[in-house]
Amino acid sequence: MRSCRFATATATACAVLAAATFAVAAHGGASRDASAGVPRPKIVVRKIPFGPKRRAETATYAQRHYGTHTWRLVHPRVIVEHYTGSDTFSAAFATFAADTPDAELGELPGVCAHFVIDRDGTIYQLVRLDTMCRHTVGLNWTAFGIEHVGTSSRQILANRAQLSASLSLTLWLMSRYDVHLRNVIGHNESLTSPYHRERYRPWRCQTHGDWRRAEMQIYRTALAGLARRYGHAVGSQPRRVTRRCP
Ligand SMILES: [Zn+2]
Repeated sequence: MRSCRFATATATACAVLAAATFAVAAHGGASRDASAGVPRPKIVVRKIPFGPKRRAETATYAQRHYGTHTWRLVHPRVIVEHYTGSDTFSAAFATFAADTPDAELGELPGVCAHFVIDRDGTIYQLVRLDTMCRHTVGLNWTAFGIEHVGTSSRQILANRAQLSASLSLTLWLMSRYDVHLRNVIGHNESLTSPYHRERYRPWRCQTHGDWRRAEMQIYRTALAGLARRYGHAVGSQPRRVTRRCP
């Protein structure tokens, strides 16, 4: 792409940067946060049930895995990007709404995410932002979870509407909660986060394959580009660190 200013960028990265530019225009009509220059994107609230039973299960989970008996998400410092591995928002919603033991680890509460971004760019919010959601082992105590409907990160990077919505949402959360760029990570990067903590030894090296470092570097480059357009400082990419796990 001739207009791409990044000589070392791949074609994919250039397309993503173009999408970041598009994100500014696409969400130009969104409400502006009085405390920052980053606007709040349009968000459709579609809550999953999160009553006393699920809150109690979450507090028990937090006690076991983090040593804090609470269902509340306090001072979130990390944003974790995921993809659903399925093709529709309704399938993801049904999975997160069902408060049943997860298929992989067999523990309650059921898994969830704060947001799901559909393929057409619609941003759905599923739980309140002060609520801990179970989406990433080791990081739920301090992380927002953003799911993307799809089966690969490359697929999402290539979807302009979905990517633009994702960048806009992530940047708005970063500005509102003062989350640094290095703490916007893919699920697959969870084990190298300085915020990772897990008291239950068998889970200390547990992670998933969604959004690996290579794709997240592209995503974060686009995010930094979007932040510059709003004059919002986000810091640098995460440093490569030695994995503590095999
Ligand atoms: Zn994930």
